[in-house]
Amino acid sequence: MNREYGWLLGLAAIGLYFTGKKDLTFGGKFALSDLIRSSTANEHGISNVPGPKEVENLSRIVTEILNPLEAHYPGLTINSGYRSPELNAKLQELGYGAVSNSLHLQGRAIDIKHPRHSSYELARGVRDLGLPHSELLPYASSKGGHLHVAL
Ligand SMILES: [Zn+2]
Repeated sequence: MNREYGWLLGLAAIGLYFTGKKDLTFGGKFALSDLIRSSTANEHGISNVPGPKEVENLSRIVTEILNPLEAHYPGLTINSGYRSPELNAKLQELGYGAVSNSLHLQGRAIDIKHPRHSSYELARGVRDLGLPHSELLPYASSKGGHLHVAL
């Protein structure tokens, strides 16, 4: 996608989303609301609103990684997508192992889970399918059992 167009699309989508008119989807079952939802943000009254650049990155994650992976492992759920600086700081404070330079801050990382496939199987799937990624970190079930994947 053309960079400038992506940015404008992101801006328009944010406008629609936050005026409650429309959720943004990316050609599959996942929507912008799935990528910014955070129980920690809700509990602590923290704003978790991405900017246009972050929305563009989120749309790339969904179209380039999440949708193709979902096609092979139907039933994926999103634990965590975008994190605002304030949310990330709160997660660090609460000991969730968030790092200060996390790609979640840029909307370039996502934590996913599957009810029937382990994070290790999902990581293998990302590799076997040749999906792009800069980080691929499967967590043991004792540490949440999710797969962190980033563009
Ligand atoms: Zn993560």
